[in-house]
Order: sequence, then structure tokens, then C-alpha cells
Amino acid sequence: MYVNISGRVHTVDSHGKMLKEVTCENCQIEFVYILERRAKGIGFSPYCLDDEGAAQRAAAASVNRLRKWLAQGFDIVPCPSCGHYQEYMIPWLRGDHRIGLWKTAVAMLYAAAVLAIVTVMIMIQPNYRGYTGLWLLCAALIMVMAARRPLRSWAMRNGTECRDFARDTPRES
Ligand SMILES: [Zn+2]
Repeated sequence: MYVNISGRVHTVDSHGKMLKEVTCENCQIEFVYILERRAKGIGFSPYCLDDEGAAQRAAAASVNRLRKWLAQGFDIVPCPSCGHYQEYMIPWLRGDHRIGLWKTAVAMLYAAAVLAIVTVMIMIQPNYRGYTGLWLLCAALIMVMAARRPLRSWAMRNGTECRDFARDTPRES
């Protein structure tokens, strides 16, 4: 996909599978399942001057992300022998963790928006001087960056990316 603004955005999709080993906490049996993930990487070529570099950055970002998601991710699978769900899967099974991450991200973005509004109100004062506005703007930016982390782990665990992958990959192949 190419988007022309003042440059070109390159996107690369990587997908992969990994065997995950689990030792059941309940019956101590070892079992494996296949974890599948798909990750997108983006590279930007300013004024279309660095298309090759942008394509490489996109590919590297998508591979790095995929590697991380495969290494750290897991699916919610019951033990094939006793049906037990492992302790770390249970918050996800109940949806608590997902809702928690989502709420954290929304709260951070909300706080950032409030800060940005306060900043603008301070900076448009006729007698405004100094760097207060800049500091507040930095704080808002940090909050937006911080909100990316819970959003990302939310996506990593349960995002559209793995659902898409499951949909467009024939199961029997
Ligand atoms: Zn078990």
C-alpha cells in the first residue's frame, strides 16, 4: 500500500507460527500448541527519497514485532488432559486484563487531551511568557506515548491482526 503525502509510507506484513510448550499446573502434563501471529511494520520515505531504506525499516519493524509477539504472546488453551486453564491465561479468559489495558490507555489519552487544552489556554494568554506551555506539551506527548504500550499489548493478545490471520489462512494447509 502506498500513500503519497510528503513522502511515501511503506508497510510490510509478516506472519509466523511458533510451537508453544506448556506444562500444566494442575496435572503436570506437557503439551504444545501452535501460536500464530501477524505483525505490521511501517517505514516512511520523506519526499520519496529513501524508498529502499523505508522498505527495509518496514520489513525490520514487522519482523521484530512478529518475533516479540510470538515469543511473548500466548493463546488461551485448556490442558488437553485435564481441561485446566493455566493461571496466566485466566485474566484473559475472563476479559479482565483486556478491559484493564483498554481502560488504562483511554485514561491516559483523556489526560493527555485535558493537558493539551490547558496548555493551549495558558499559551494564548496575552501575558504568557516562559516555557510552561512547552513543558505541559511534553507531558501530554509522554502520556500519548505511554498509552501506546497498553494498546499494543492489547493488540498483541487479542488484536485484529491475529483474527485476520486466522481468517485468511486456510486451516487445512
Ligand atoms: Zn492438565
